[in-house]
Amino acid sequence: MDLNYTEAEEAFRAEARGWLEANAPRDLPPLDSPEGFPLHVAWERKLFENRWAVVSWPEAYGGREASIIEWLIFEEEYYRAGAPQRATQNGIFLLAPTVFEFGTPEQQDRILPRMASAEELWCQGWSEPGAGSDLASLTSRAERADGGWRLYGQKTWCTRGTFSDRMFGIFRTDPDSERHRGLTYMLVDLSADGVTVRPIDKLDGEEGFAEVFLDGAFVPDDDVLGEVGQGWSVAMATAGSERGLTLRSPGRFLATAQRLIELYRRRRDQVDEALRERVARMWMDAEAYRLYTLQSVTRIIEGEAVGSDSSLMKIHWSEMDVALHETALDILGPDAELAFGSDGAVERGEWMKGYLFALSGPIYAGTNEIQRNLIAERILGLPRR
Ligand SMILES: Cc1cc2nc3c(=O)[nH]c(=O)nc-3n(C[C@H](O)[C@H](O)[C@H](O)COP(=O)(O)OP(=O)(O)OC[C@H]3O[C@@H](n4cnc5c(N)ncnc54)[C@H](O)[C@@H]3O)c2cc1C
Repeated sequence: MDLNYTEAEEAFRAEARGWLEANAPRDLPPLDSPEGFPLHVAWERKLFENRWAVVSWPEAYGGREASIIEWLIFEEEYYRAGAPQRATQNGIFLLAPTVFEFGTPEQQDRILPRMASAEELWCQGWSEPGAGSDLASLTSRAERADGGWRLYGQKTWCTRGTFSDRMFGIFRTDPDSERHRGLTYMLVDLSADGVTVRPIDKLDGEEGFAEVFLDGAFVPDDDVLGEVGQGWSVAMATAGSERGLTLRSPGRFLATAQRLIELYRRRRDQVDEALRERVARMWMDAEAYRLYTLQSVTRIIEGEAVGSDSSLMKIHWSEMDVALHETALDILGPDAELAFGSDGAVERGEWMKGYLFALSGPIYAGTNEIQRNLIAERILGLPRR
């Protein structure tokens, strides 16, 4: 592993930094709000027009063919600039790697440019009321129809579902199958007949979540991703992206750790000395995640798969995010409780808002208990119970 960046990588960083510093809006209303959502989409369009939306993708789809190291650099610069949360996240970070791996050329040409330019926004439809950690117990089904499939069932906890155009999910296509067999990965148009999207309010009052009811909605054969009946292995490719690198790159946590240091510096005269240790520890944890990621990336470049490492990374980033925000709340004391956007709230109240979201990190993308099971079995080789 070489920890020095090349001249070309440094030039890429400088170009990204210059553009983001000049163009990134800093104080948009929250993404999952009626007033914030269109502004975030407008920002996505600007990123796309300037070829910063999907830097690692082929040029034909609006990318720059950046290497994985350059992509990590871009992410660092994106968060360093305080740029907005990505409205296209479910598509570009979760579905796209799966479309690149399993999609036909026709599907790639049709789906990827519209995803990159934010013309089509995606949500993930995996969880069901009776199937979360044990996803293989899902009961939503697809029945054969002329030229495609008709869907029946219910999905839930679809992030940004109320604002999305399309949903990717897995459905039981073989009624006699059990567990991981007989499932198929499908791409669903949320405006189709037979689809009802109902918002679910979140703890912070926003309505980004949705439950999706399917009552005979049609999915054409062209929108089946991968082979019929092979949905589980296609879905697991998406899960690897979600837990590992693409969803939560180190740049996000390095930027939060830096904000924490600045908050501590501003308030150091008013707070307990012991907080200094915790702030230093948070910086080290963020830096450790960066170094571990570089090590994993080096292995990917050499042709290895990330595999179960994504479970280690998921536990680290999600627990670090909670600790980062808890440290900030302890520095802020009673000021932490001022609601987002209220008069006198420090940094608009971002720390409490971020804390409420961080609490969900150990749950989404596969709970940390499940990740610990995977580490026990696949990395440590402990017996299955
Ligand atoms: C912020 C957020 C965003 C989300 N976004 C999406 C989305 O976009 N699309 C989507 O499909 N889903 C989404 N989810 C749902 C998420 O994937 C599920 O919440 C998660 O998989 C857990 O499932 P569950 O909620 O049904 O909990 P359960 O599976 O019922 O688990 C309950 C508890 O039991 C523990 N547990 C369960 N089984 C075991 C076991 N074998 N060993 C040890 N402990 C176990 C779990 O760790 C957990 O603590 C989101 C969730 C959150 C919080």
